[in-house]
Amino acid sequence: MRLSHLVRLGAACLAFALSWGEPAKAEPLAKDLFGAKRLPAATPPAVYGFYSKGCFSGGIAIAADGPHWQAMRLSRNRRWGHPELVRLIEKLSREAAQDGWPGLLVGDLSQPRGGPMLSGHASHQIGLDADIWFTPMPVKRMSVAERERVSAVSMLRDNSLYVDDRKWTSAHEAVLRRAASYPEVERILVHPGIKKKLCDTVRGERSWLRKVRPFWGHDYHFHLRIGCPDGSPGCTPQTPPPPGEGCDSSLAWWFTEEPWKPAAGPAKPRARDVMRMSALPTACQAVLDAPSPPSEATVTLTGSGALPAIAATMPPVPAGSVDPASYLLSLQPEQLPVPSPRPAH
Ligand SMILES: [Zn+2]
Repeated sequence: MRLSHLVRLGAACLAFALSWGEPAKAEPLAKDLFGAKRLPAATPPAVYGFYSKGCFSGGIAIAADGPHWQAMRLSRNRRWGHPELVRLIEKLSREAAQDGWPGLLVGDLSQPRGGPMLSGHASHQIGLDADIWFTPMPVKRMSVAERERVSAVSMLRDNSLYVDDRKWTSAHEAVLRRAASYPEVERILVHPGIKKKLCDTVRGERSWLRKVRPFWGHDYHFHLRIGCPDGSPGCTPQTPPPPGEGCDSSLAWWFTEEPWKPAAGPAKPRARDVMRMSALPTACQAVLDAPSPPSEATVTLTGSGALPAIAATMPPVPAGSVDPASYLLSLQPEQLPVPSPRPAH
């Protein structure tokens, strides 16, 4: 072989070695792309992927203020969800008020087009998750600054896994019962101590306890999760929880040391810190590339509960679209975080 051939071969090998492993490096992180979007994809509502790995289009925002709610941490721009979720929150705020809950303090839903977040939650990626504070809404309207600053109150006794009875009220039970009553709601995540409180104290009809699942965190807020909406074949459902109220040995496990031990071995990077577009459903690139609506106001649900102007022109979202038989409640194994004191959810 002549020298020039060897040089060319070497150059080809070098080029191959350089290109190999480079696409991943060049490909931006999905959280940076989705985190930069200020408005949703102005297309019919559709969900792609799973709660912890996906995106959605046709999202709408819940207004910062409604008759029975105030949205918190407005700077995060996470008031976005699938229209079915946003309408459900409006309904819950109204019906819970009839039950004696003064109003909802609404925490994070999703980013405008979903996807992994720059900080916080591992789920909340497909517009079907919402955090609602356990702190009842105050009578006064909070300023934007107060909504950044005010802290939620833990329902637990200090340094304890158990509910503080000075904070827990029958109204807390009522708002959870109301939320669980909706067929669209598949799971409500709460701290194990709160689940135990419900197991110990709920009287009468108790089948709704099946939807209330113990999880890390969630002593300051509960996490509402609805099932895959109609019209979203790309949405991956979650498997149902085991039958029953969940007040059994599976709950007792949470009161052992095991769930609270630090994870063994070296810390693994968080999924959002390594997730690239190639890990998400292919449709998520189209969701990123889709045009925005003309303004936030045109896609914001206000107190009337009516769909905002642009969303009203999209195919209607059928009410109660989830078949109760298909409740998909139990955590999928890959969803379970590595045990650590308080992982993001
Ligand atoms: Zn949450």
